[in-house]
Amino acid sequence: MLLTGPEKRLVVSVTGPQVDDVHVQVLGAAAAGAIAELRLDLWEDPNPSALLALESRPPMLVTDRPVREGGRDSAEDAVRLARLAAAGRGGAEAVDIEISAWQAARDLDFGKAQRLVSHHIFEPGVADVDSEIARLRSAGADAIKLAVMPRDIAESLRLLESQRLIDGPATLIGMGEYGTITRVLGAAYGAGLIYAAADSGDAAAPGQVPVSAMRDLYRFERVAREGVEAWFGVVGDPISHSRSPELHNLAFEHLKLPYCYVPLRTRDLGILLEALEPHPCRGLSVTLPHKEAALRLAAEADEDARRIGAANTLTRRASGGWLAQNTDAPAIVAALGGASALSGRRALVLGAGGVARAAVRALTVSGAEVTVCNRTFERAASLTRDLGGQVVRSVGPDVTEWDVIVNATSLGMSPSVETTPLPDGRFRAGQVVFDTVYAPAETRLLMEAASQGATAVRGTEMFLQQARRQLEIWTGREAPMGAWRSRF
Ligand code: NAP
Repeated sequence: MLLTGPEKRLVVSVTGPQVDDVHVQVLGAAAAGAIAELRLDLWEDPNPSALLALESRPPMLVTDRPVREGGRDSAEDAVRLARLAAAGRGGAEAVDIEISAWQAARDLDFGKAQRLVSHHIFEPGVADVDSEIARLRSAGADAIKLAVMPRDIAESLRLLESQRLIDGPATLIGMGEYGTITRVLGAAYGAGLIYAAADSGDAAAPGQVPVSAMRDLYRFERVAREGVEAWFGVVGDPISHSRSPELHNLAFEHLKLPYCYVPLRTRDLGILLEALEPHPCRGLSVTLPHKEAALRLAAEADEDARRIGAANTLTRRASGGWLAQNTDAPAIVAALGGASALSGRRALVLGAGGVARAAVRALTVSGAEVTVCNRTFERAASLTRDLGGQVVRSVGPDVTEWDVIVNATSLGMSPSVETTPLPDGRFRAGQVVFDTVYAPAETRLLMEAASQGATAVRGTEMFLQQARRQLEIWTGREAPMGAWRSRF
């Protein structure tokens, strides 16, 4: 039975609006092995009878959402419910009826269709979840679905906790960006239906993840079948641009590990760490603006993190609290060929932010002689007071005196790809020029340095190396560098 079986099912929302779109999206659902949710309120012609009569089709859940529940159908309930009942009698495996229309639907004949009772609350906050769940369950439907709008990641984590505690077929959804984890991890916490957007259509609800990403990036089938023993995430604000989920989930797939890795957007790292208490989250990659807070909030820190004053890796300790580490510094050493390649070399670091601090730490512990130059001189001076090296007010355009040059400014980063920290720079053969900017992979600085014979090292190498260390810390396993490099 579609709604009451033990299997967790992916549901692809078929949003149309035109007949051709509907067909493409239904085929997409079938190819993904998913249920097709026919969102009649979003179709130009809300009549699914021809689709329902097809001999070969995916299982269908028919929905006709009214405006008061975030849909587009402004018809009276009687009209909408008659449409749903006809779909049920026409062979739909299930229909979705809003709790506010449940009484009115009581005497209608839905054929053999199972009934899902649902409620969508767009007002921000998840305060009354327990009473809403109780209200939905009292309807006596085959399954319940509640969609709410979390105001932050902590509310989404609480929603997952409620999901884990519900008996019987139920799906709790957090809409919007903060709710993404309730979709990605929902099946692991017991949700029966996981809604995804069709790859060729609009999301039917804010925050829906495209079906291809649910399957390929977040490994829905494995998560639904085996659950997750532990999960990990990348925390920042903003976070939707991060490619870390791609990297770590690919590694988990290669290594056949029962784990998942998710994006976690939060304004406040402390609130997130507190909300993670009851969850099996074992590690976090930390990015802007939380790297300093990660160090401050951790129970323990490694020497790199303490010296740099920031951590990019948090690991849950068996004894409670978090261990803060900085894998950026060792990643920079690895990207530059190891400490032996740096010892005794003259190195120039451009910038004085978090990555520059990691670079100076990496170079000084490797025995390089470091010079720092930054737009804001005092910041560079403060950096060298903390970590060693000398400071200069300006450099260039001839930078041939340095063996190693590291760009740790944001100059050259997409979309400002025409910028460079060394306009008209003069480079030489035998020199290593490393750009920490990794979007684009090939920056103007690297192209100009390589064209003059220098060895160009891309920021993606540092990105892969820091993730490689995180994976080792969390799982004790070697990263699939070959597979990673073929993607990045
Ligand atoms: P940050 O703390 O904000 O520091 C930014 C640095 O860029 C500062 O030194 C700043 O100078 C300088 N800067 C910004 N705009 C400038 C301009 N118009 N002219 C001259 N200098 C300018 O950032 P961060 O976290 O250190 O990140 C720095 C770079 O590292 C970014 O480009 C990022 O893409 C890259 N990154 C790479 C990786 C990787 O794995 N490859 C990971 C993280 C970050 P002031 O001090 O004068 O403001």
